[in-house]
Amino acid sequence: MLTALKGNILEALSPDILGVHPNSYLVLEDGRVAGIHTVLPKSMGEAAVTDFGGALILQSFADMHLHGPQYEITGTGMDKPLLQWLEAYAFPTEAKYADADYARKQYRILAHDLIQNGTTRVAMFSSLHTDATLILMEELEKAGVTGYVGKVNMDRNAPPYLCETTEESEKETLRWLEACKRFTLVKPILTPRFAPSCSDRLLSFLGKLKAERNLPVQSHLSENTGEIALVAQLFPDCPQYWEVYDKYGLFDRNTLMAHCVHSDARERTAMRMRDVHPVHCASSNNSLMSGISPVAQMLREEQAVCLGSDVSGGTTLSMLRTMANSISSSKDRGSMMQDQSQAISIEQAYYMATGAGQRFLGHGVGFAEGEPLHAVVLDDTGLPKLPNITFRERLLRAVYRLDDRHIRAVYSEGLRRL
Ligand SMILES: [Zn+2]
Repeated sequence: MLTALKGNILEALSPDILGVHPNSYLVLEDGRVAGIHTVLPKSMGEAAVTDFGGALILQSFADMHLHGPQYEITGTGMDKPLLQWLEAYAFPTEAKYADADYARKQYRILAHDLIQNGTTRVAMFSSLHTDATLILMEELEKAGVTGYVGKVNMDRNAPPYLCETTEESEKETLRWLEACKRFTLVKPILTPRFAPSCSDRLLSFLGKLKAERNLPVQSHLSENTGEIALVAQLFPDCPQYWEVYDKYGLFDRNTLMAHCVHSDARERTAMRMRDVHPVHCASSNNSLMSGISPVAQMLREEQAVCLGSDVSGGTTLSMLRTMANSISSSKDRGSMMQDQSQAISIEQAYYMATGAGQRFLGHGVGFAEGEPLHAVVLDDTGLPKLPNITFRERLLRAVYRLDDRHIRAVYSEGLRRL
């Protein structure tokens, strides 16, 4: 069946190129993108058109780093640095997800709120609980959120109430992977929480599992100076943090590494050579005072940087806020260094919030033809009508000024979800 969305279509084609299609038709065949046209071709004349008038039709967002069980404490305890914040807030909250009924209730809210905010693709950490992780995957899939979810592995340096033995962690990971086979939109991703919370044996087990089953991996890298010092102490044979993951085969093109705030030229080169995807989490880097990531530099080096809300080190689930925070923090870095080239552009922010994640998840960029539609319709028509304003200016203004109340529709996998 042919359908079409009509409006001002903006595509993130690369970190530098914004594709602009004013007042155009995004044509779908059975929910899959069949092309973008300024006039509906005769052969498509029967398409049922949903007209969004002057609104902006964007690719929906890919939040490539967040912690599902921490959503309920978003904005809490933001006066502590990372390691203290984990002890005081994040770990006690994650422990509650041993209760499946509780997990169901909370994860249903999270899945709903993701769609409400135009996020249809994720790479998400669950807790270490297998059953709650499966519930999270179920609730996301039901709501239309696609991507990856990982059962967290942690067998040391965690409070006793939130720690597995190595055997448990291995056994539960295998049980979880077996049970994941029933999902179609949400897939498993191996998730060692971060190097300090996994023993050598557990990391080695995960590396073998990754190789055997060709699984993706997500973890944290060089977020905070205290954390980096802890890694150096725990893994004295590894000169740099990334080498812990690399040693166990957990550092390649199928890997997401959150933060990378303090990754120096050597660590960044290692990421680039292995095509590891850094995930920039500006809000959480600010909240937990981790530092300001050299994201413009990473983009210049052609790193495949994605964006993450990092709820709840980050203070918002909104990828519009996350883009705005990324632009702002890059300017803070530029101000501190008296170097304008540290600032990122709206094109870069939009691409990192959409296309970079799409690529990691195996999709084409922009509204790729033949792929199921993932889109968000953002209505900026209530903002002042400035003469001669360009579409890139409108997009930047919308990112700064709009929120979920201005999202008129969300499409995922070709279906309208909002
Ligand atoms: Zn995180």
